[in-house]
Amino acid sequence: MNISRPLSTRREIALATAVAIVTGSVVAMGWARPLERPVGDLLFRLVSMTTSETTPVVVVAIDDRSVERRGPLPWHRAHLASLIAGIGDHGPSGLVVDILLTDPVDREGDDMLAQVLEKNDAILAAALRPDGGWLLPLDRFGGDTVAAHSHAEVDSDGVVRSLAYTKQSGGLSLPALSVAAARRAGWEGSSTPGGRFFPDFRESPSQIETVSAMDVTDGSTSVVPRLQGRLVFLGVTAAGASDQFFVPVGESNRPTPGVLIHAAATSSLLRGGLVNEADIWLVISIAFAVSFAVQRLRTASGRLRVVWITVGILIVLLLAYGALWTNNTRLPVVALIVAAVVSAGAREAIESKTALAETGEILASLIREDGPAPETEIPRGVQGRLEMVKKLQHRITDDRNLRRTLLEGLNEGVVLWDGYGAPILWNRALEQLWGDPPEIGDFTLGPTPSQNLEVGSTTREIDRGSRVLEIEIVSIEDGHLGLIRDVTERAELDRRRRETHRLVSHELKTPLASISGFGEMLQTYDMSGDELEKVAGMIRSEADRLGEMVRVFLDIERIGARRWEDERSPIDLGSLVENRVETIRSSGEAGGRAVEVDADEGCTVAGIEPLIPRLVDNLVGNAIKFTGESGRIAIRVTVNEDASCTLEVEDNGIGIPGESLPKLFEKFYRVPGTDVEGTGLGLALVKEIVDMHGSSIQVESVVGEGTRFRVRFPAIGEKE
Ligand code: ADP
Repeated sequence: MNISRPLSTRREIALATAVAIVTGSVVAMGWARPLERPVGDLLFRLVSMTTSETTPVVVVAIDDRSVERRGPLPWHRAHLASLIAGIGDHGPSGLVVDILLTDPVDREGDDMLAQVLEKNDAILAAALRPDGGWLLPLDRFGGDTVAAHSHAEVDSDGVVRSLAYTKQSGGLSLPALSVAAARRAGWEGSSTPGGRFFPDFRESPSQIETVSAMDVTDGSTSVVPRLQGRLVFLGVTAAGASDQFFVPVGESNRPTPGVLIHAAATSSLLRGGLVNEADIWLVISIAFAVSFAVQRLRTASGRLRVVWITVGILIVLLLAYGALWTNNTRLPVVALIVAAVVSAGAREAIESKTALAETGEILASLIREDGPAPETEIPRGVQGRLEMVKKLQHRITDDRNLRRTLLEGLNEGVVLWDGYGAPILWNRALEQLWGDPPEIGDFTLGPTPSQNLEVGSTTREIDRGSRVLEIEIVSIEDGHLGLIRDVTERAELDRRRRETHRLVSHELKTPLASISGFGEMLQTYDMSGDELEKVAGMIRSEADRLGEMVRVFLDIERIGARRWEDERSPIDLGSLVENRVETIRSSGEAGGRAVEVDADEGCTVAGIEPLIPRLVDNLVGNAIKFTGESGRIAIRVTVNEDASCTLEVEDNGIGIPGESLPKLFEKFYRVPGTDVEGTGLGLALVKEIVDMHGSSIQVESVVGEGTRFRVRFPAIGEKE
């Protein structure tokens, strides 16, 4: 299955190009402008606050204080004339009067005013009539020759951000007050008739230096240096003045008097501080870069992260701030931010579409593995995909259950190791056989190098407590599989076979060598009748002993190899012992020895019928064999408190040296120096029978004094 990579660089470029073109078009059409204003204003405020530059512009304000002193507006022309004369006395470089002087009032006052206006070469405000045409200064004040329009362009949100270079009505085109004033102060910039300009207001209207009209008329000495050589704007700032506007900079929530706006615009013009719309190609380039960057960041993270979009937005804001700060260029911030968000979103959409198509294919191919089924088509909708996933989930659950059932059904312990040898899956049988699931190192790193198990497909037997386990390790893809089997029984059989082999080959050699030696004597020597009989008797005796050895040996093997569990039955041990002793006595085997039995009543054991008599015969037989003719053999059968039974066979015979006691029950062991005939197998047989019954046997002996064997049979029902 070929899983697709994130979008190729070519497609990333294609997407970035599309986003850039759309952004460029939207900006060129001006569709985003209303949205740009709030963000643009924010940047504007940031930039304007960072400057304290001042220009030679000053405002003489007819403020609230002046109105309080001189009475309400409009003032007498004579008042105005003396105020302007006062300004003129301080030697300004130019005068702009932002007060409409369109109607004659009183002859005397108008004369005075005309005189001072002319003297100061003042520029006068004009306004467009709502019904068309101009409201111009009176001809005697200079008329249209000194007039300039006092309009500010109010955007649809009520904020003034621009002014018209010129305004035209009825064939008369007048420059803006600020433009006319700037020209007077030497500004030579070009102005587009009818076009707008956007002052940067770095010296914001509220920062413009203002002198109260009262201070001028009062002849306050501090006024002189502030007006001298500067461009003076005269206007009304008193509350209630009609021309007040909101500007994007300065104090918010409070309208700014028009005269301050004109003065600030003049300041901007003189400083060359006009804000330009960004070149459309610049906008397109930035949109492309932002879109590409956002996609790239997303590729790196592989996820749509809010943080990347935020980063994109910050980049745009930073760029916009930088452009405004260094170059007075206004970037369409909102359009670019939208471009960043759209890029991330479109990118996400394209990728999830590709991913959906691929998951559909994967699902279909997985389901197809189940066998040819009609639902192998690639699912189209999300719903179809969900159904496929559910089907797959069922299959996986079924598979898992099947695997569990199979594993748990095994008698063998199974463990699966990962590539690092840690167990990741195992069954109950393993826990039963081994305990906590082992690491692979538990087998591959034995205590000594020779015990290391090489990984591949290898087997080894390990003794674990009373059990022998066979471990097999198989290499599989990405890990290893361990199989653990309980081979205790098989190992026991092997052990017996080996021991039998060893013992038979070793022990039978001696009697055979004797027989062979006697045979050779017969062949080699010419013997008399007596001698012949003697040798024949010895051959016979050796052969009998050999025969007895083989018989008992085979008995032991048979007893050991057979399962006797089902053949147990309650046996009255006391009566059995009495019977056997009686038989021995009557056979004359006991000779002159006293053989006494003392048996408790009701001593019942879960015994194996054919074996118990042999146990008794062997112990009693040995006691007779190794005790002198005048000796005494005491046999006791007692019931213990816990209902178990004890059989004791005690003699006062030759006894057994201490060093022989540990080996007494080994096959073919005979105490060195014993001259009584025997095979060395009798006690081995006894031990085998004792084991078969879950009993225990002890022996105590003192050389020259006698020997006592004690067998304890568990009570019926007692756990062995
Ligand atoms: P066998 O009697 O055929 O030699 P057993 O396995 O019965 O073989 O006995 C092993 C050896 O243990 C004997 O050879 C003998 O030395 C010693 N032994 C067994 N029973 C007695 C006993 N009651 N008193 C002294 N020695 C004994």
